Amino acid sequence: MISRASARFLDMESASPIMWFHANLRGKTMFLDVHELALHKTSIHRSYAPGTLDFHSSEIRQIEPLEVRATAELVEGQIRISGNFQTRLELVCARCLDTVVEEVSRDFDLYYRSNTTIPDDDDEQLKLDDTEIGFFEGDGLFLADVLAEQVNLALPMKVICRSDCRGLCPNCGVNLNNEDCRCEKHPTNARLAPLARLKQDWSKKQ
Ligand SMILES: [Zn+2]
Ligand SMILES: [Zn+2]
Repeated sequence: MISRASARFLDMESASPIMWFHANLRGKTMFLDVHELALHKTSIHRSYAPGTLDFHSSEIRQIEPLEVRATAELVEGQIRISGNFQTRLELVCARCLDTVVEEVSRDFDLYYRSNTTIPDDDDEQLKLDDTEIGFFEGDGLFLADVLAEQVNLALPMKVICRSDCRGLCPNCGVNLNNEDCRCEKHPTNARLAPLARLKQDWSKKQ
């Protein structure tokens, strides 16, 4: 079966099938190719719809397009990507497991070097240790992978729905923000539960 896109391509005399495939793939994923960046700096303005980035986490759900503006260039053999992005995510409260909507934005200035290049002297090794440098395999890297990583880095270690979230009852699992349970009285802050238990043990011993 010939799709409409490839049928249209067959009419074109100038482009080779490989070029067409490459361009088509790029349209969806944006691959930053080290050989192309060697020729020219690329400016990027793209929008990634929810579901197109893989955050490697079931607790991160993108609910609005991620907008990125950046430039990519080759600097001393390394791919440099700098710019910023913003989006909205649905996360999970660490205390009550309810969903939390967070506006996330971040500026970044990143360097990636080929994992096949080995520093040839100590000087270069020193430079490597100084700056945070990522690595890419083969001809380059996908912008989507860079962004997914940056989103993860932009998030707080623990997300909480509100500062006075009462969390879940450690005993029956009820969400204490919504209802009280009949379990023995529990500390208002679930995080203090181990501390309270310690105190109890201590007073029993007295
Ligand atoms: Zn909560
Ligand atoms: Zn309970």
